[in-house]
Amino acid sequence: MVGDPAEVDTDLLIVGAGPAGLFGAYYAGFRGLSVTLVDSLPELGGQVSALYPEKLILDVAGFPAIKGRELVEQMVEQAASAKPTYLLGRTATKLSIDDDVVTMGLDDGALVRAKVVIITAGIGKFTPRPLPAGEGWEDRGLVFFVPSFAEYAGRDVVIVGGGDSAFDWAHSLESIAKSITLVHRRDKFRAHQATVDAVLAGSTEVITQAQVTALQGEHHVEAVEITTNDGEVSTRPAQSVVAALGFVADLSAMQEWGIEFDKRHIKVDTAMRTNLPRVFAAGDITEYDGKVRLIAVGFGEVATAVNNAAVTVDPDAHVFPGHSSEGS
Ligand SMILES: Cc1cc2nc3c(=O)[nH]c(=O)nc-3n(C[C@H](O)[C@H](O)[C@H](O)COP(=O)(O)OP(=O)(O)OC[C@H]3O[C@@H](n4cnc5c(N)ncnc54)[C@H](O)[C@@H]3O)c2cc1C
Repeated sequence: MVGDPAEVDTDLLIVGAGPAGLFGAYYAGFRGLSVTLVDSLPELGGQVSALYPEKLILDVAGFPAIKGRELVEQMVEQAASAKPTYLLGRTATKLSIDDDVVTMGLDDGALVRAKVVIITAGIGKFTPRPLPAGEGWEDRGLVFFVPSFAEYAGRDVVIVGGGDSAFDWAHSLESIAKSITLVHRRDKFRAHQATVDAVLAGSTEVITQAQVTALQGEHHVEAVEITTNDGEVSTRPAQSVVAALGFVADLSAMQEWGIEFDKRHIKVDTAMRTNLPRVFAAGDITEYDGKVRLIAVGFGEVATAVNNAAVTVDPDAHVFPGHSSEGS
């Protein structure tokens, strides 16, 4: 459910609906806890959905190869048994702890009261780097993510950037869009070489050492102006402009909560507890000796966090949840 309530009461609040948060939601349901997830992105899946939905992931146990998008779909289906409340497009900004209630304020003014909180905030709130020429063009043809491809059928698409997302999207859209132009300000790329080679060998027009200097059109974008580093100006038709210029990760709100950080990560003990009572953390955001930042590791950490949080909620409960297979 994607809700819009001003106040929510829940057993467990999970901050961050990436892989760790989604698997945590499943485990909350298994422990009989009501669960609410908040995420500043408009969609579920964290880095996987936002940065590499079309890439094959090879190191998630049980899936020899699975596309990012499909892994997220499977996790969402698995989490559904917990009937989670999803508060998307909202950022957790203020935390206060009062005896046995943790209250989280969101950036839209909503309040979530929880018995326990698990922070699975990855690298923090990440926002796309703006395209300077694109100011005022959002919702008029300029996008920063390409979550699904079908809507680009028959369109002229200009992609700006030279990293993995730019090349992945160019490669994926080539057979769907009418034309693809990729504009990058350098002549070197930061993307997987096999994808670069595939795009260079395909029908995408790749313009390097150039920038998109203006978007043109009456209501919706119709064309872009491209200026090379030598000052040569040209235009290309475009009904869609994809700015794939990377992201800025922001942890500043969380760093005000009194949680002990080690640089950009939250220190946890072996039960995934932070230094604050009733506040746990799991996934990429955590730090301890030997930490490895991978999806598989986040799954294990969040299972530990939820099962220990369940004992905080009910001190008579056991940390070990029993085997899920016993209920099947
Ligand atoms: C290109 C690329 C390829 C990768 N390939 C692999 C791979 O093959 N195998 C592998 O194991 N790992 C891979 N990774 C790493 C993997 O994606 C991460 O380890 C994983 O996403 C971490 O999951 P997480 O749930 O901890 O955090 P994230 O996926 O980062 O999710 C955290 C979520 O928290 C949200 N958030 C943050 N702060 C707030 C706030 N204050 N309020 C609300 N929401 C907030 C963010 O919006 C985000 O959605 C790859 C990463 C990249 C960039």
